[in-house]
Amino acid sequence: MSIFVPLYGELLQCPYERSHLIRPERMQVHLIKCERQHPHIKLEKCLFNYSHHIKPEEYQEHLRTCNDRILVESCLYTTEGEAAKPPPVQPPVEEYTPEQLAAGWGEENWDDMNEKPYDPAKYCRENKIIQKARLMTKSERREFYRQETIRHDMLAKKEMAEKEALEMAEKQAKEEAMALPKKQTKKRSPKKKN
Ligand SMILES: [Zn+2]
Ligand SMILES: [Zn+2]
Repeated sequence: MSIFVPLYGELLQCPYERSHLIRPERMQVHLIKCERQHPHIKLEKCLFNYSHHIKPEEYQEHLRTCNDRILVESCLYTTEGEAAKPPPVQPPVEEYTPEQLAAGWGEENWDDMNEKPYDPAKYCRENKIIQKARLMTKSERREFYRQETIRHDMLAKKEMAEKEALEMAEKQAKEEAMALPKKQTKKRSPKKKN
């Protein structure tokens, strides 16, 4: 269950203690601690997202309907058969759907990588795998794929532009580094002769 809190954004309710409202990217770490603090509560861990701790009686239903199941399955599928797909875009925050926000999109923080436990669905997203439509009707699915294609095109273009800018900056830095010692040697060499 996710709750939107102004200033904090999307928060998830801890399955062990309802009063714990946790940022999606912190949930997995929180659950490790909270599980230890509530040894009397026995929850099953979702195979597709280890931050889903589910009541045993709801576990089978969760496995069947878990959103991350689609991501993980599409990851397995695409890595075998469609590896050459263009990389997906991370859309600007304002374009995120509430569902994507709840799943932790836009929360990337490479500074605390060491705090992040393994999350199969996140791995798939970060490894630039096309998301499979999980919408029910045919027309919705068609629209989903259309938007995904636009999104992927945008990312490919953005990545190209970023790569070019980086290469330009590197080239300039190299040229400046090359130019600097030359000037110095020119100034020094006449002095040595005298
Ligand atoms: Zn908790
Ligand atoms: Zn799950």
